[in-house]
Formats: sequence, structure tokens, C-alpha cells
Amino acid sequence: MIDVHAHICDERLLPEADTIVSELAQNNVSAVIDSGFCPVSSEITVKNAEKYDNVYATVGVHPEEYQKASKEAFSRFIDLYNNNKKVVAIGEIGLDYHYPELPKEKQWEVFEEQLQIAGSLNAPVVLHVRDAVGDAYDILKNYFSYLKSGILLHCYSGSKEMVKQFDRFDCYYSFGGAVTFKNATEKPDVIRAVPPERLLLETDCPYMTPVPFRGQTNYPKYIRYAADKIAEILGTTFEKVDLQTTENAKRLFPRLR
Ligand SMILES: [Zn+2]
Repeated sequence: MIDVHAHICDERLLPEADTIVSELAQNNVSAVIDSGFCPVSSEITVKNAEKYDNVYATVGVHPEEYQKASKEAFSRFIDLYNNNKKVVAIGEIGLDYHYPELPKEKQWEVFEEQLQIAGSLNAPVVLHVRDAVGDAYDILKNYFSYLKSGILLHCYSGSKEMVKQFDRFDCYYSFGGAVTFKNATEKPDVIRAVPPERLLLETDCPYMTPVPFRGQTNYPKYIRYAADKIAEILGTTFEKVDLQTTENAKRLFPRLR
């Protein structure tokens, strides 16, 4: 399995990075994409990718961190992407309307600037979209023809109807621990609506810990719980989900070896 969205760079996981990476193989995880969310964490993901064979990086400013966006940060992301083949995408970037104190206009600006960077680099983008599916769709409508290297909606939380809309942009969708939650009543329909060749696995660790570890810290090694649940929903086997999602991850992120 490939964990396409994790935060080993998070201060809760970073001190344990050696252990986390050493446990990957025995848990059938062949690669982890460590996702930056601000300028500092983006430097850490690249360092982790340089240090560990099966760790890859993304660089970007998350909407909650919009105040940390700057011209300097953006030009640094361009350098990091151009100079390190293990930086696989620009992300995580996007929109988050969950907290009303995050100004929408500012988020749009930071999001769109990074979409432009990704387009100019021919890099895939990893998107965080929370309670903002409609606006994210409207913005992507203006950019998708420019984003030729693919779009991932990480921890996709939109409806199955919106999957049909996002399919027009050839989006990929990744799912993690949330599929195992008892209140995830709409998730089975959403997962069945996603084209099989667009489905990916993630943990979003240290967040989104799956049942039966909910309430504790999440790790890439727990990705199996989401894969099992998705197999159950699709009426298929874990092995087939593993094979298909691994193939999909390598297609979306050609820098994964
Ligand atoms: Zn994340």
C-alpha cells in the first residue's frame, strides 16, 4: 500500500520518524507521502524524503496556515520541487471554511497562487477541501486545463453527486480512517461512486485515526484499516484494493519509484 497523505513532519510524529519508517515494510506500506502544510513543515518533509528511501514529500501552504504564505515561501517551493525528485507534488493546499475566522478571500488568493505554481511546474496538486466543495469546484474550473499533472482531493468529504462533477477534472480521491467511523453513513455510496482507477489510500496521520484506535495518535501502519473497510464496501478483497490503489498512486505521482 502507498499512504498518499501523511504528516511525519508533524511535531507529534517527527520524534518517532525512525520507528515509523522502520515499521512500514512489515505493515505492507511501500511508500509514504509526507505532506507539508506550511513553509517550515515543507522543509521537514523534504529532509525526511532525503533521509528515508520510502518517504516522499509535498510542499505547500494549507489554508489554515494562509498567513505563512509569502513570495519567498513560494519561490522556495519552486526550488524544492525542481531540485529534488522526491518532491512529488504541490500540497497540501486548498480551502477550509470550517473555522469562520479564516478569511475566504485570503484563502482563495493563497490557493490560486499555488495552483499557478503547480501548473507552471507541471506538478500534481494535493488538495485539502473542508466544507468548501462548491467553491473549490468553481476555482478548479478555471485551472484544471492548466493543471495537466493531476489533482488529488485528499480525505474527500464531498457528496457522491460532486464526484461526478470533479470527475470532469480527472480528479483522484483518497480515503483514510474516516471510512471506518460509525457515523460515516454516506461514505459507502461516495466510495462506490469513485472510478476504481481514481481511488487512493491515505492516513492523514497523526489525525483521522481509524477504528479501533480512534482517540489515539494515527500512524501510516494503520492504513490497513481503511483498505479493509474499502474492500468491504466495494465487495472485493484487500489484495485487489492494495493493487489498484498502488497502481493509481504511481500513475498520479510519477516520481514515486
Ligand atoms: Zn493533511
